Amino acid sequence: VDEFDLIRSHFTHTYDAKLLQQKGVVLGVGDDCAITQLSAQDQLVFSMDTLVAGTHFLPDIDPEDLAWRLVACTVSDLAAMGAEPLWITLALTLPKIDPTWIAPFATGLKCACDQYGLLLIGGDTTKGPLTLTAQVHGKTPKGQAITRAGARVGDDLYVTGTLGDSRLGLELLLKPDQHGLALSKAQTEFALARFLRPTARIEAGQALRPFASSALDISDGVAGDAKHIAKASGVKLIVDAARLPKSHALKPVDEALARSWMLGGGEDFELLFTASPNHRDAIQALSATLDLPITRVGSADVGQGVQISGIGELEIAGYQHFSTHGPSLDQL
Ligand code: ADP
Ligand code: MG
Repeated sequence: VDEFDLIRSHFTHTYDAKLLQQKGVVLGVGDDCAITQLSAQDQLVFSMDTLVAGTHFLPDIDPEDLAWRLVACTVSDLAAMGAEPLWITLALTLPKIDPTWIAPFATGLKCACDQYGLLLIGGDTTKGPLTLTAQVHGKTPKGQAITRAGARVGDDLYVTGTLGDSRLGLELLLKPDQHGLALSKAQTEFALARFLRPTARIEAGQALRPFASSALDISDGVAGDAKHIAKASGVKLIVDAARLPKSHALKPVDEALARSWMLGGGEDFELLFTASPNHRDAIQALSATLDLPITRVGSADVGQGVQISGIGELEIAGYQHFSTHGPSLDQL
């Protein structure tokens, strides 16, 4: 039983359509965010994420980085829906009140919230093992949120930014020998920043509303996360592994290892989305406007599941189950 089975069998309550309408529920459990009707024009889009010490972050993490990470990984779900961030609420469980920890945490929190236009409007503080939960709220014009369910056969598949950097950053922190890599200072700093202070693609998400037929943010790796779009949309997604966007920092990494990190490394928080081939020019123009790479990495076809192409049979076999490869801080 994985986390998704557990949610499906215990927490995906079935409600009468009339009740859902009465309560203003547009989209419930199962996507990056839930959606409710906010006004005649707008819909409220919201999502919650929890970070547990030792599971989702290294215990000695800089508290300022931790706050950035919490905000980025949570607001990233709003990005995936194309929503505009409004508010954040924060549940803090702390082992003790340590001013030297709280002050930098609060600084990081304020800066990260400012960066994404989130106002902190509530929360809860308790004593216990260090755990952080944030709920973010945003809005989209009625009916315009991008869900996981809209991909159609023939659509192109895209990814923003570059992949695998966060995993490289994690490896650099976990393994001092750095896999014998000769990384420059710039490459090292880039990878560490991608892991410690990931960027949620809020601007890209909103800009993609007119074009994307489906989207999600990559938290578990492209290969695994693509399955969620494939399933929700009832299509097969073909990912061309040779087209996955690689940053300058990953250049010194062995090709197969880099590919495994790009396909299976989590926490890049880039957007994976589909769009009709009619929008190719518009999406390329958008990439230039945003100054953000947006790379076509595959397509949607008849069928189900995810097919990896563009690499050898042997390597593809390694992705049959799309389980996480190597160390992960984010497994249930
Ligand atoms: P993401 O990786 O995008 O943050 P999750 O895997 O955490 O998404 O959650 C998948 C879906 O299941 C979301 O719609 C989320 O709201 C829902 N969900 C997760 N845990 C619970 C729970 N305990 N009760 C109800 N819904 C849940
Ligand atoms: Mg998500």
